[in-house]
Amino acid sequence: MVGSAVCRALAANGFGNVVCRTHRELDLLDPAAVRAFYAAEKPDVAIIAAARVGGIGANSADNARFLYENEMIAMNTVMGAYEAGVKRLLFLGSTCIYPRLAPQPIPESVLLTGALEKTNEGYALAKISGLKLCEFLRRDRGVTYHSLMPTNLYGTGDNYDIVGGHVLPTMIRKFETARVNGDAKVSLWGTGTPLREFLHVDDLAAACVFMLKMDDPPDLVNVGSGREVAIRELAELVKCATGCPAAIEWDSSKPDGTPRKLCDTSLIRSLGWKPKIELEEGLARTVAEYRIAVADGSVRL
Ligand code: GDP
Repeated sequence: MVGSAVCRALAANGFGNVVCRTHRELDLLDPAAVRAFYAAEKPDVAIIAAARVGGIGANSADNARFLYENEMIAMNTVMGAYEAGVKRLLFLGSTCIYPRLAPQPIPESVLLTGALEKTNEGYALAKISGLKLCEFLRRDRGVTYHSLMPTNLYGTGDNYDIVGGHVLPTMIRKFETARVNGDAKVSLWGTGTPLREFLHVDDLAAACVFMLKMDDPPDLVNVGSGREVAIRELAELVKCATGCPAAIEWDSSKPDGTPRKLCDTSLIRSLGWKPKIELEEGLARTVAEYRIAVADGSVRL
């Protein structure tokens, strides 16, 4: 989802010579394969959008896999770039790197000041290693490697898997399925009280291009919409965007995760960037794209 959005944004900004690899074409868990890729392509700039990602269900069921795969991806892609002489690199993570009970909105400065949220601790540890590797290489070896930490993302090319997906695409699928089947109820996870922030992936891609155009970017920058939404409120917005009349049921046997996760975006705003896609607009677009993907069989499940 993120890589494709970044490619679209680079093309729209006139960058013609963009080299991409799909998961099938290049196994980022394999250091030799990553080295061979960099040696063959000799990129000027690397953007690390690849990761093993998933929602609260997928992460909490297998923290070992999220730690191992994301650690390997981060080490291979960042160190491989350095060894190949790449001078500029943008590493993407997530705001789950911050302590579970961080002050809200979460400033970049609270990194490593408290315990992590347990449901996605593996993913968070791997992303912290990746951003620290960038920071160390920049400080000690003079390359401009820096990181962007996006809040919860959604949009074009999302994963609609009911068990492993994130809340927003999963809700779209659940409400759409209920609408089409005429079901009376939709079952959602947890209590609905946690607060989350959502950013359209095209806004993130625009932020990536913006950061890469800076000569001396900060090491670590948050990117978010700045708007906090309760999961219950999100459910009503998705229900409305899909036009589904079903009633909502909350399954409190499922985890809530961290109670609040709003990132402080004052740094990126002070640099001159702000998001453009309002949640209601992004949701309407995403529901329309989901319907097309279901109709032509291309939906990612
Ligand atoms: P998180 O932001 O890392 O916690 O990951 P998610 O996007 O998976 O979940 C966000 C919040 O949405 C959590 O509080 C979940 O309990 C809640 N939620 C409600 N219904 C669902 C659902 O159907 N799927 C998922 N993944 N989360 C849900």
